[in-house]
Amino acid sequence: MPVKCSLGIDKSQAFPADLPIPGSGPELFYASRITHHASRITHHASRFTFHVSRITFHVSRFTFHVSRFTFHASERIIMEHTYGPVWVIGEQVNCQVVTVSLQLVGRARTLADELNTSVEVVLLGNHMTDEHVQPLFAAGADRIYMGNDPALELYQPELFTEMIVKLAGDRRPEIMLIGSTFMGRELAPLVAARLDTGLTAHCIDLVLDKDKILEQIIPAYGGLISIVCPEKRPQMATVSKGVFPKPDPDETRTGEIVMLDVPTGMTQRINTLEIIREEPEGVSLESAPIVVAGGAGAGDIEGWQKIEELAKILNAGLGSTRPAVDEGWIELETMIGQSGKMVSPELYIGVGLSGELQHMVGIVGAQVMVAVNNDSKAPVFEQVDYGIVDDCREFVPVLIEKIREHQEKQLTC
Ligand SMILES: Cc1cc2nc3c(=O)[nH]c(=O)nc-3n(C[C@H](O)[C@H](O)[C@H](O)COP(=O)(O)OP(=O)(O)OC[C@H]3O[C@@H](n4cnc5c(N)ncnc54)[C@H](O)[C@@H]3O)c2cc1C
Repeated sequence: MPVKCSLGIDKSQAFPADLPIPGSGPELFYASRITHHASRITHHASRFTFHVSRITFHVSRFTFHVSRFTFHASERIIMEHTYGPVWVIGEQVNCQVVTVSLQLVGRARTLADELNTSVEVVLLGNHMTDEHVQPLFAAGADRIYMGNDPALELYQPELFTEMIVKLAGDRRPEIMLIGSTFMGRELAPLVAARLDTGLTAHCIDLVLDKDKILEQIIPAYGGLISIVCPEKRPQMATVSKGVFPKPDPDETRTGEIVMLDVPTGMTQRINTLEIIREEPEGVSLESAPIVVAGGAGAGDIEGWQKIEELAKILNAGLGSTRPAVDEGWIELETMIGQSGKMVSPELYIGVGLSGELQHMVGIVGAQVMVAVNNDSKAPVFEQVDYGIVDDCREFVPVLIEKIREHQEKQLTC
């Protein structure tokens, strides 16, 4: 059971209007806030049912003491919440919607159904057609806010932030999900800061609690914790590709496309001129049937090169832990785990790594797992199918030699 932490303890609201937070539980609806709205409420005192934004109150019997600006709901108040939409900030490359956006729409659909609300996607780019966005509808979106303009051809942090923040002010999303991509990792905090709300990065699960508050689950303190943001909206989270499955497309689904205007005359301090995408070398980590991942136990660059050689001879994808990246032995793109990639190979071999949860959440889909570590008490041994207690700097060269011999034997047979 994850421990629960809370974001956004300030009772002020994310959105500028002085209305109750859509979807906040009755226990959060403080008397002081009711008092604050008393003058507005008296406006409608002649009616037994009145509507304040998207929250409906049904008051059976009531008394207003307007002179003291106090609303005594001494009898029964039944609150029926309606929730703002669940948002996904979509991403496209050359007009093709990226996988993580579709995966997030799938999870957004589940959350929206539980909240009885809609799924909306914001997608910014250029030259996009209805055909390009159909996969989003097929994955579960009800409405797409599309910006299609040369100014949006490349990701522009300030312009994208401006457009999303402005639209969020109008649409008041309950939840906003963003992929942990290079764009999402930068865009999410920019948007969260402007909306004055909380943000949980690299979530590994998202569920609603009994009060319909989003539990944003991350590995921390040696276990899982659930972060909640009960008093600010939207509840924002970033999620890596592969955390949620890609939903089975329902090609019969359609929805509404709303075109967005691009603000003119905005001065941007940062202008993206060009995006250069590097083709990853070697076997793709995400699709490789075998993954060899190395950690701090490699010791130095020579030790790391042996792990690299092992991956090569097995035609495996090469993964890493954070310390290996920090040491400069390998690029960040190879990091597996909460802030890295999610892999699900048939065989995973972890070499010289301790088995910290932040790494291990990235390999939950692996079928057979092997670890090499010189400490028999390393936590990784509790999580794998086969454990080898040995110094990897001695063991890996021998293993490479044995594999080579085996491969040569097979060639001559
Ligand atoms: C918010 C957050 C997000 C994070 N995200 C990620 C993430 O996505 N991916 C990730 O990997 N980490 C992530 N981390 C870091 C993570 O918590 C661990 O610090 C990291 O995974 C540990 O890497 P490691 O196992 O290589 O190093 P260590 O924990 O230092 O373990 C090294 C292991 O090598 C063994 N060893 C030492 N020498 C040898 C030898 N000669 N032969 C064999 N074994 C040896 C040791 O016994 C030890 O068990 C994150 C941390 C935070 C706080």
